[in-house]
Amino acid sequence: MSKVKYLGSHVSLAAPEFYLGTVKEALSYGADTFMFYTGAPQNTRRAPLDTLKIEEGRQLILEAGIDESKIVVHAPYIMNMGNTIKPGLYEGSVEFLQQEMERTAGFGAKLLVLHPGAHVGAGAEAAIEQIARGLNEVLENDTTGTIICLETMAGKGTEVGRSFEEIAAIIEKVDKKEQLGVCFDTCHTNDAGYDIHDVDGLLAHFDEVIGLEYFKILHINDSKNERGASKDRHDNLGYGTIGFETIKKWVHHPLLKDVAKILETPWIEKTIAPYKHEIAMLRSGEYVENWREPLEEQAKQLAK
Ligand code: FE
Ligand code: FE
Ligand code: ZN
Repeated sequence: MSKVKYLGSHVSLAAPEFYLGTVKEALSYGADTFMFYTGAPQNTRRAPLDTLKIEEGRQLILEAGIDESKIVVHAPYIMNMGNTIKPGLYEGSVEFLQQEMERTAGFGAKLLVLHPGAHVGAGAEAAIEQIARGLNEVLENDTTGTIICLETMAGKGTEVGRSFEEIAAIIEKVDKKEQLGVCFDTCHTNDAGYDIHDVDGLLAHFDEVIGLEYFKILHINDSKNERGASKDRHDNLGYGTIGFETIKKWVHHPLLKDVAKILETPWIEKTIAPYKHEIAMLRSGEYVENWREPLEEQAKQLAK
């Protein structure tokens, strides 16, 4: 097995230790990068940066030898620059994206994941046009250098970014392309209809349509649904329709060696994080049959 770099998971930013706690959590999983929300993903309320123990967190990052350029921030998913129907939502989303880029830089991070948006009935073309306009607006005056990574989506509802072509169409309309990237989500791409098992073929297709130079982040998830289901429900490694062997190929692929690789799999019974186990299996390349069972047992004990 090749040695995997920049492998981690989603982690939380919460009281009392805030960013210091975020970094500690990531290290406890054996991770060498991580992803977090700078506040609740469902809203845009954000605490001032100077209350979040960022200095302490960054000190630990330095000591642990983590490369800050591979740390990922996920923008809240209620933003929608693609909505051409509801008045004010576009302006609000643009303004918030600007602030989120500043916050990302405030943490010393570089990569910001953004769900492109949803067209809410107006059609993908109108949404793509407006999303690109928003990105241009935000990037025009940007001084942070944050890289906005558009996530490949499952295609549930009216999501934009369900195909490589839709992502490419957005990128094409943006001037400052050097500040754009793509976050490739294995669950979403499977659910959108791509053959996730054909790793080399899919990477070649990605390169043709978008360009591999934009591939900055891999979201590692198994899927609860079949290929093409347009659903977006993540599952633990080996428990979904994708399976460990295919996911391992993505994580160990030589073309993705410099990409940040982030697990977003569900917690066991909502109480125990699976990441330490999933990261260990991905690093060693060896799958542990029924690895979730002892954790489920443990979760039940904790619930008593
Ligand atoms: Fe996402
Ligand atoms: Fe994702
Ligand atoms: Zn998802």
